[in-house]
Amino acid sequence: MSIGSKIEWLKKELPAHVKLVAVSKFHPPEDVFEAYQAGQRVFGESRVQELTGKHKALPSDIEWHFIGPLQSNKVKDMAPFIHTIHSIDSLRLIEEVNKQAARQNRIIRVLLEIRIAAEEGKHGFTPSEVKELLAKENIHSFSHIRICGLMGMATFTDDETRIRTEFHLLSSLFQEIKSSAALKDAGYFNELSMGMTGDYKLAIQEGSTMVRIGSYIFGDR
Ligand SMILES: *Cc1c(COP(=O)(O)O)cnc(C)c1O
Repeated sequence: MSIGSKIEWLKKELPAHVKLVAVSKFHPPEDVFEAYQAGQRVFGESRVQELTGKHKALPSDIEWHFIGPLQSNKVKDMAPFIHTIHSIDSLRLIEEVNKQAARQNRIIRVLLEIRIAAEEGKHGFTPSEVKELLAKENIHSFSHIRICGLMGMATFTDDETRIRTEFHLLSSLFQEIKSSAALKDAGYFNELSMGMTGDYKLAIQEGSTMVRIGSYIFGDR
């Protein structure tokens, strides 16, 4: 199947309330353009240099999402155009994104990454860290970011029960935060980014609003 037909297939497959982020990392701009021609406008990248290169090479109406590990000194390179950053895992990054977005006179949407997988080396806040963070007064006073939800990655395993348990945990945390005093009137804490090629069906069953799908669309990396 071509990249274009895969996009078309996914558009039929995914429920209307679930946004498809086509993860194009390590694939050339030509492949991204093929997906673009099939109507896809939302793409995810995991390295800043690759992202800025593709942003230059491709149509300007693409909505770019950043999904990879992020160093604060790289934020400024994508601040002029990035739509959503999924991988925020520290207060320091929040401050830096806010500062760089202010310089560009923009508002950047961010998701807080939660460590749900039991695997070592995964990034993200623990559930208690994120609740502590969001309970701080000043976190809601940053005027150039919008905290739109949570992101998480399940353990890389064939064990569906385990994946489902991890997604369920993230989903419950999302609901809890969404209905908390600090956010329930905000109206923008709406996104739960979970699910990739191997586990997006389970993620949707557990309440995902955004799936990040790469290898199904573009092939192996
Ligand atoms: C690479 C990547 C994806 C896409 O994974 P596939 O299994 O290729 O669909 C999704 N999310 C993150 C954070 C990634 O780094």
